[in-house]
Amino acid sequence: MKEGIHPKYHKTTVTCACGETFETGSTKQNLRVEICSKCHPFFTGKQRVVFTTGRVERFKTKYGLE
Ligand SMILES: [Zn+2]
Repeated sequence: MKEGIHPKYHKTTVTCACGETFETGSTKQNLRVEICSKCHPFFTGKQRVVFTTGRVERFKTKYGLE
């Protein structure tokens, strides 16, 4: 068995911009997403969280966090 050729597929924690976290299978670790099933308008029927996310991004830019 040679290691390092194929990306290891394992469980990873995905963190959403809304603060929700959930596990999924991925070759990457500690994924970050802008939106998830908990806050996506398609699932919630609301737009509010999307705008909240936008404010967070502007906050980060303003204070040089990213
Ligand atoms: Zn979310």
